[in-house]
Amino acid sequence: MKLNKIIECLEKWAPPIYQESYDNSGLMVGDYESQISGCLISLDCTEKVVNEAISKNCNLIISHHPIIFGGISSINSSHWVGRVIQKAISNNINIYAIHTNLDNIKEGVNKKISDLLKLKNTSFLLPKYGFNKKLEVYIPEKDKDHFLDKIFEAGAGQIGNYRECSFQGKGIGTFTPQENSNPSIGSNNTKEELEEIKLEIYFDKSVEKKVVEAISNYHPYDEPNYFIHENKIQSREVGSGMVGNRKIDFDDLLKEIKNIFKCGSIKYTQVVNKKVEKIAVCGGSGSFLTKEAIRSGADVFITSDFKYHDFFEANNQITLIDIGHYESEQFTKDLIFEFLNKNLVNIALHLSNENTNPIKYF
Ligand SMILES: [Zn+2]
Ligand SMILES: [Zn+2]
Repeated sequence: MKLNKIIECLEKWAPPIYQESYDNSGLMVGDYESQISGCLISLDCTEKVVNEAISKNCNLIISHHPIIFGGISSINSSHWVGRVIQKAISNNINIYAIHTNLDNIKEGVNKKISDLLKLKNTSFLLPKYGFNKKLEVYIPEKDKDHFLDKIFEAGAGQIGNYRECSFQGKGIGTFTPQENSNPSIGSNNTKEELEEIKLEIYFDKSVEKKVVEAISNYHPYDEPNYFIHENKIQSREVGSGMVGNRKIDFDDLLKEIKNIFKCGSIKYTQVVNKKVEKIAVCGGSGSFLTKEAIRSGADVFITSDFKYHDFFEANNQITLIDIGHYESEQFTKDLIFEFLNKNLVNIALHLSNENTNPIKYF
């Protein structure tokens, strides 16, 4: 299987456009045209992981964290990133990162954590805005159905569990073809009036390019008249963190966390509610979501990478639980594995056996 087929599959699931502005998801090292012999899935892409890929005959490493992050000024053997890249290139190994776009999808990193903690009725802690768009386009009635099929095929018209959603209204369109035009209806320099259908179709920003391509490929007009509107409502598909319901005693929750995530240590703030009913989670560094976790009414917020002063932001309104970055995201590789296993049949998939956590506990 070619690398670009695998990437296409991954990016349909977690569109790169969903990644945070500071992120660098995508193909870090490699050739889109290469044939993939096997794929190794890891949280981080360390030298040990590259060695593991070589020993397992995998020429693709998919990691959650990007090996190239925040700029790189040299690729040489004095730094681990340079050594990883050099080793990958000299062994024809491709490295792909699926980072905050995977954190931010509905069925992503935070859903995986929510499932492990048996949370019910989950929703985003902080939904994103600006991903809802509407296409408005005018077309003769006879061309409408074929055109709509193609627009739906491009991914438009999907709202939650409903597909092929559109609004249609009849009206009168006017135009006068000028010199050098090539009108499908009417003739040059003659004013035309015709009945048209106005179509309004919702689409997600992640499919915008395909929708615009479909308009230029399948609209019958020489110069199709269309508008794209941005709707500033919450996205259903993309957001940060997750919150859900689970009734459990606080002490039992800590034991369960320790057991599932194999935490070397758990740091937490004052216990606000002994009886936990609502739990907020965020894989990786989630301190930026403390306010949203409080606002959601969660009793606890499980994430990692709190600095000393961040813990004060619990403000006696929530219990912050820091379980460690690696610990919180270690099951991300299972998430990627399960997805590829279900969606790509002809590829040898391996889960990395390396514990890439750079932190040791005493
Ligand atoms: Zn993450
Ligand atoms: Zn992370």
